[in-house]
Parts: sequence; structure tokens; C-alpha cells
Amino acid sequence: MKTGHVTLLFTSDEHGYLQPAARLQREVKEARQANPNGTLLLSSGDVFEGSAETGVLGLNGSRDLMARAGYGAMTLGNHDFDRGTAVVKEWVRKAPCKVLVSNVVDTEKNAPLENTRPSHLFELNGVKVGLVGVTTPETMVINPKEQMAGLNITDPVASVQRELAQLKAQGAQVVGVISHLGLPADRRLAESVPGLDFILGGHTHDALEQPEQVGKTLIAHPGCFRNSMGRFDFSVEPGNEGIRNFQYHLIKANDQAPGVGGVTRYLKRTAHEVNVAMNEPVGNLSHEYRTDPNTLGDDMESLLSHASVEASGVDVVMMNQKTIRAGLPSGQVTKRDVFNAFPFDNRLVTVNMKASEVAEIYKESLRRLDQSSLTACGRFVLAGDRENQQTTLVENVPRAEFEADRSRFGPLMGHLETYTDTVACAVDPDRELKVGTSDYLVGGGLGYFKAGMANIVRDLGTLREVVQGYIQHATAL
Ligand SMILES: [Zn+2]
Repeated sequence: MKTGHVTLLFTSDEHGYLQPAARLQREVKEARQANPNGTLLLSSGDVFEGSAETGVLGLNGSRDLMARAGYGAMTLGNHDFDRGTAVVKEWVRKAPCKVLVSNVVDTEKNAPLENTRPSHLFELNGVKVGLVGVTTPETMVINPKEQMAGLNITDPVASVQRELAQLKAQGAQVVGVISHLGLPADRRLAESVPGLDFILGGHTHDALEQPEQVGKTLIAHPGCFRNSMGRFDFSVEPGNEGIRNFQYHLIKANDQAPGVGGVTRYLKRTAHEVNVAMNEPVGNLSHEYRTDPNTLGDDMESLLSHASVEASGVDVVMMNQKTIRAGLPSGQVTKRDVFNAFPFDNRLVTVNMKASEVAEIYKESLRRLDQSSLTACGRFVLAGDRENQQTTLVENVPRAEFEADRSRFGPLMGHLETYTDTVACAVDPDRELKVGTSDYLVGGGLGYFKAGMANIVRDLGTLREVVQGYIQHATAL
């Protein structure tokens, strides 16, 4: 390979999915054979959390795989903080590669997180390539406060600007970013920091067939779950700066034959353990449950609501839609299916709240109307009157129950009386409701529950356990 040729391979948002690596590793191996001194394998974060494989193997699964695959550097994603400060610190201490992150601050030491570095100057086939890592400051809002104790995430533009200047001063001919900011924020970063040659990004799970160009910066996103990997080749003239003759491919795991070598042997060895634990049947479902992150009130949200009510007897179920990551099949359901649907370790908890507080949270959710909105199904829902900008919490009461004793319920909301089997009644704002939600939301995740707003009354186990119980019960009927 000619001096000056650089090959970057990169994945992002692997979320602990290991098996597809067997199909990507051949490409990694061939790239290294062709360009032994100029090839680097990178990750843009969210590496370990969210798969059945992690459920069985723990963090070691991702760590061992990444070490065998020969990753050179990674940055941290928001989900890498899911298990709290101690676990993220342990991960970086035992990390399988360099951890580059320029905007995470250890607030106790007022210094970068220990065992990470903001950036690194790589020497690849005679080219000085500077790489900066950066992660989304939204993590501070997305995650419960307790999980982020002792940490702060600062403005990525400022930290990338700072590192860019330092890398240039050290003689970097090319400077790029491994970013867990998401595609829209990567575009803004490229606009704000004009000297960047490329951004290899993740977080939004976009699989771009070709890079976008903003100014002179190329932005590439390789997709998620190791279903695909980006390959970015370019050359740099000796003594010059900037990229020439770039080529880009999005390599899809499905199109590749499994490779041979350490990664494949490792995956074969661990697959058995994972399969034994995860192929176990849970029960049967009479139809398929679909999910769509852009639709509020889909099948899976209603399944989770019903399962939560059955487990806890609550009046209202409030969950964030993104806690659900996949649908469930018709027929036999395995532990793996449930794990894929609920890959995070969120727990069903109950809290007592006034109806007015519940209504406020629903209003905020409606105001956002995005992927951070909450599920809204069940007996208590927020009814809106768009014309008058009025919203009221209403109780959907089965008609027979209502007719039997009207005095038990609030005033009938006339305009909703068109349903045949339920009627909507206004709820007294001071009425105390039993709310089923997740420890994640009560802890302040996504910013709905303010500190001290509600105390957990009961903890009913992980959402996976709750849904498994529901499916088992439904199967036995
Ligand atoms: Zn992410």
C-alpha cells in the first residue's frame, strides 16, 4: 500500500450485539493485510448496553470481542453511562482500546474522566491523523441524575475546537472526530468547527450509504447493532494537510461470509452459553405485537401497559416509549425476544401522585411529541381541546361501571361520549392516583420527574420480568 493511504473502519451503537462481528471481521482482516500500518478500527459509542448477549456475558462480552477484533479507539455513548458512574469508570479502566472523549468531566477532580483522553494523534502509514472523541451532553438530561453522579458533559463544539487546535499544533495532517452526538448535531458541529476533515458518528442509528458533506467536512454514520460497518479510505500527500481521493463503503454484515480467526472462534464459544440462556420459551402470543418509535400508543406500548397493570394494579402507566426496542412475534416467544424488546434493565415501580401532577407530566409529554414522549394508554389519559388549548386528565370508565353508580365518577366529558363501551369522566385534580412507571423516569430520566416529586412505593422487577410474567399468564389461560 502506498505511503499516505489510510483506511478507517468504524462501527457505532453496537449495543452489545456480538454475533454479526463474525461477518464483518473478514473485511477488517483484509484491510489490515492490504494496509498493515495504515488501518484503524473505531467505535462511536453505545458499545455494550442493550443485547441478550450482554444479558448473559455481561460487559466482558463486548470487551473480549473488541479486544479480539483489534479496535484502536472508541468514544463513549449515552448508554455507556446506563449502569452509573462506577461501571463506566470500570469500563474505561479495563477498556479494550483507547477511550477518546473530550467533553466528559470528572467534577470531583475537575479533570477529564480518568483513563480516557480527549484526543490522540495516530501515525497511520506515514500520516499524522488526529482523532477527537465527543459524546452527547443530552446524556445529562436523558439519564437519571444518580447515574451521572460526579460527572458533567460539556459543550462538544468548545472541546472539539480546543482539541483541533492542539492536534494541529502537534503536526496533525488530518483531524477527525469520533462522535456520539447524532447526525443533526454532527452537522452543526461541522458548521461550527470548519477545520475538521471528517466526523464518524453514531447515536441516531443512521446507516448512510455515502457521507454527507458540510463545508469541507465529511460526515459518515455506519448504522447500529454491527449490522453494518463504515469503511473510509483516503490518502494524504507527504508534508501536506487534508484528505485526497476519498472512497467510502457501507459494508453490510448480511452480505458477507463469516470469517475465520479469533473473533469467530470467540463467538462460537460464547454462542452456546447465550443460546442456552436465551432460547428458552416464555409462552405464546396469539398475534404479533408491532412497535414504531414514531407512533404513540402502538401494540407494544399497550402490551407493556397491560402487563404493568396486571403486575401492580395501578391506575396509570407512564413509560417512555424508547424503553421498547423491538416488537414480539406471534406464536412462541423466547427470552431472547423479550430481551430484544426490553434490552435495558429498567424496573417497574409504583408511586402515588395527585391527578394534577400526572396531568402536568402528560402535558409536557404532549408538548414534546417526539421520541422522548411517554406512552399514553390505559384508563387515565390526557384529553385535549386544541381549539381552547385546554387539556384535562380523564378517566375512561367502562360504561356498565359508570351506569351502575355515576356518583363515583367525575363529570362526564360530553364530547368524548361517542365511544360505545367506555365513557370519559373528568378527574378531580386532587385525587391521588397509583402510577406505574420506571425507576428510570422517577430518577429524573428525560426530565419529567423533578427531584422529590414522588417516592417509590413498590418495585416489581425489571420490565422484562413483568412482560414475561404477563405472557406466561396469557399462555396459561
Ligand atoms: Zn446513543
